[in-house]
Amino acid sequence: MRRGCISLGEVKCDICQRTIPYPERYLAVDEEDGVEAEKGNTVHYCTQCALENGYAYYKEMKGEMILTFFSEPEISEEPDTSQE
Ligand SMILES: [Zn+2]
Repeated sequence: MRRGCISLGEVKCDICQRTIPYPERYLAVDEEDGVEAEKGNTVHYCTQCALENGYAYYKEMKGEMILTFFSEPEISEEPDTSQE
């Protein structure tokens, strides 16, 4: 399961170990043994790593390039407060 979230500044990318600053977006993916799964460990991807792993793409909207995550059921515009 994938969730597109907005960092509050306390989330670290599990791939490049970079702290994701507020209000940058990140992707939380449940993975098991490195494979996306319904349940498993939550892996956080910064936008750059999400792009590199094929979880995100840029979409042109009103002349601007907007980063969009794949399989995003809903994009919360509110900061995610349910972080561990
Ligand atoms: Zn990263």
